[in-house]
Amino acid sequence: MKFGFDIDDTLINLREHAFNIYNKNLNQNVGLDVFHTLKRVEIHEAFGLSDEQGKDMWNSSLEEIYYTSCPAFPDAVQLLQELDEQGHEIYYITARPKEHGERTKNWLIENGFPVQEGRFFYGMKDEEKINIIRELDLDFYFDDKPAVLETLSNEPVQLFVKDQSYNQHLGVPRFINWSEIAETLKSGNKKM
Ligand SMILES: [Mg+2]
Repeated sequence: MKFGFDIDDTLINLREHAFNIYNKNLNQNVGLDVFHTLKRVEIHEAFGLSDEQGKDMWNSSLEEIYYTSCPAFPDAVQLLQELDEQGHEIYYITARPKEHGERTKNWLIENGFPVQEGRFFYGMKDEEKINIIRELDLDFYFDDKPAVLETLSNEPVQLFVKDQSYNQHLGVPRFINWSEIAETLKSGNKKM
């Protein structure tokens, strides 16, 4: 089977990692309870920043956000390794900017994610992911972002949304922990 994955906030806990970095660099101490109530993907509001200030903050922190110790969500690495070992095809489809593509790929490999040549896509806009997903003819696709999942709602691919505070309105099969997906795939394996 062909499995497609978004990276940020689907496989790895990037926003929370960025939230901690903002606290440190802005010398603030905003609690994670605030983080968990955010209704937007963007996190700057919690620090009293305007959209413009937030954009600047994000861009100037990007190096630190992307390439330090952002943790993968529990069981994500293990599940992808197992799928890879079982012969399934693993694709990564991230809207991270073009200039971060190769380094992001290397970061994934260094952190234990199985990355095969030609199965890592980056630098597209959210609404352009659909073109790659169609072309690859994926069986499963996992993402967190409403703007992406909404464009895919009429596609034959089986979608799953990683549960986040800003995607509660989406009517897509939802999971909180990757272990739930591992279980779902195991029980569905008889048909696969
Ligand atoms: Mg994402």
